[in-house]
Amino acid sequence: MVLVDAPDIRTYHGKVVGDEDSKVAMTISNNLLIGMIDVDENAYYIDFTKNEIGGKNIHNIYRAESIEFDLTDELNFEIDESADYDSKLEYSTMSDNLVLMSVGITSFNILLCYDSAYKDVYGSYTLVEMEISDMINTANLGLDDHDAMLTFDYYKRYGSLDNGTSQEIIDFFKDDIPPYRDITDSDLTTLFYGQDFDDNTLGRGSTYNGSSDRAYSVLQMVPSTGSYGASYSERCIVLTHEIGHNLDARYDEHYEWVAPPFTYYTVMSPFVVYNSTHRVRPLFSDGDIYGNASCNNGQYIEACKAMVAAFRTEI
Ligand SMILES: [Zn+2]
Repeated sequence: MVLVDAPDIRTYHGKVVGDEDSKVAMTISNNLLIGMIDVDENAYYIDFTKNEIGGKNIHNIYRAESIEFDLTDELNFEIDESADYDSKLEYSTMSDNLVLMSVGITSFNILLCYDSAYKDVYGSYTLVEMEISDMINTANLGLDDHDAMLTFDYYKRYGSLDNGTSQEIIDFFKDDIPPYRDITDSDLTTLFYGQDFDDNTLGRGSTYNGSSDRAYSVLQMVPSTGSYGASYSERCIVLTHEIGHNLDARYDEHYEWVAPPFTYYTVMSPFVVYNSTHRVRPLFSDGDIYGNASCNNGQYIEACKAMVAAFRTEI
């Protein structure tokens, strides 16, 4: 096992000053800035591409409702032949993951894992880890409302992983990862998988049942042969959804509402719907603004979050 320093990446999330309904999530490192600013439910996204000008990555800025392209069209799927994939057991420390914690927030330490296929989408460890960091930050926007937050200290880099169904991959992951989860003092762990699962599933997360054996999830981070384009928004939905399963959120408590031109779903919708008329948002139903008496995943998250946070093994 080798410990390597991660690049200096900082994440921030919060609100636009003076606008209590707004949401902002930013991830910043040398020469790169990605994130989201949402003041009217039609978020601005800032993302980067692998393409460079003058040695700096080109950034894209777009609004949520204008997404009609498949983001993968913007990314070159070149294989970085020089990458070192032998270092299967390497960790990189996330030494400077700045999070602004508030009293009363329950935090879960999550061990973030990815395979070389997902790294190859971006071409470098720096870029893929920044992308993952930003997705965690967006998932935290959904958890904020329920006083919960994901934090992380380590990445585990896998080399090339086998093809398989989501069940086969999570079975592999649950077999392989426990020693790493324990040594990194993590409550949860997730695998960002860079291949198309062999079944019609985009992610799989164990539903909380009081056992630390349940705190795993796997996420498909590349387009499927179906309608999943693996855009930034869609990937954040898959991540937030599977974390929701880990925290006991349920399908039948997801909420739907209409705000033309879209029909929206909260994140525990059993399907990732993301097209010109339907959108899933990375939010949990809350029994109130985004829900009603029978659509309240927030209550399940709030009821089980302390138990999940207690999974952590003291070293
Ligand atoms: Zn699900």
